[in-house]
Amino acid sequence: MSAKAIAVRCLILGIFAWPAPQPVSAQQSQSQAQIGYKSAADADAKKTLLLKEFDPASMLHAPAHNVDRAKFYVIDVHNHQNDAMRIDDHMPPERVVEIMNKTNVRTVVILTGMWREKLQAVIDEMVRPYPGRFIVFSQIDFSKIDDPNFSQEMVAQLDDAVRRGARGLKQLKDLGLTVRDKSGKLVTIDDPRLDPIWEECGRLRIPVSIHSSDPEAFFHPVDKNNERYEELTEHPDWSFYGPQFPTKEALLAARDRMFAKHPHTTFVALHMANWPENLEYVSHLLDTLPNVMVEFGAREAELGRQPRRAREFFIKYQDRIMFGTDNGMDEAMYRNHFRWLETGDEYFDYWGYPGQGRWKIYGMQLPDSVLEKIYHKNAERIFGQFRGEAQAQAK
Ligand SMILES: [Zn+2]
Repeated sequence: MSAKAIAVRCLILGIFAWPAPQPVSAQQSQSQAQIGYKSAADADAKKTLLLKEFDPASMLHAPAHNVDRAKFYVIDVHNHQNDAMRIDDHMPPERVVEIMNKTNVRTVVILTGMWREKLQAVIDEMVRPYPGRFIVFSQIDFSKIDDPNFSQEMVAQLDDAVRRGARGLKQLKDLGLTVRDKSGKLVTIDDPRLDPIWEECGRLRIPVSIHSSDPEAFFHPVDKNNERYEELTEHPDWSFYGPQFPTKEALLAARDRMFAKHPHTTFVALHMANWPENLEYVSHLLDTLPNVMVEFGAREAELGRQPRRAREFFIKYQDRIMFGTDNGMDEAMYRNHFRWLETGDEYFDYWGYPGQGRWKIYGMQLPDSVLEKIYHKNAERIFGQFRGEAQAQAK
């Protein structure tokens, strides 16, 4: 440090002896003495603000480019609005369509349509009155797992669902994690009893959208080192840590074996194959299995915090990624996703912040040709493979 720098530093520190010191109040001299470089001795004791009350305002002067309407029309392949399971609060269908119209969302896929009369109710409320705006998927009825003809019953139920208008099959995360048969054993994702169902989806050329495992943090202890501590405290039943649960790796391995066993069926590995924290793994999955697609429902936070790696991934796998949200319908929700995909904005809240973790996201500024595929072209290709009701009847 130069002599000048030392002098400046001493001035700042207020330790220079002034030629004719003015009388100062006790308060003034104390505040001057406080400007130092050592941490306060009582700092640890004072850092007791509750985590739930910590809400820092960013001082970053970063431009915000809000995107009211997606640049190209959108097919949201992961939604539960007005489904058969009532996962989200019911919303008047006209309001749902209004949100879609305002944000350039042409079609919404309602994944949890169940089967038979419950499925029919979703078709009657959402699909029939709004042609081209909604697609509904059916599901497997695991309460019948111990029926001797379980596989055939479910194939018949699926054919019935497709005749009614379903255009895909959705599998929740319970398979492999909580569904048990009468032996008490967990039904694994690659259980052979399910093979005829996956095969039937291939025959009908309808996609299977499957949720297996969950964020990596859900398989770790819920303690101060868990990056999703607050989320797991809100939802203790989302923690799958402990010997009573299969590991994340075991769940994904069973799922991927099942994908490989049914090469003529198109699978959508929901939530970015449920390992966006590990895009190396997702890349390997897509490289190995051409019948697998991914979408990013409820994983904007994970992908948005690694914008350079994610952008590279989105460009490389531009034909394999579809737009999905897995959020309740809201104009602001869609706009937040468009901002993430279309702009280069820095350090902003993902949708639902800080629900998944205390980090911010960065826009990917994807090229138009990639945006178009992700917004709708890839989904149109998948749904365009459908062979028609005739195929379901011809059995
Ligand atoms: Zn979902």
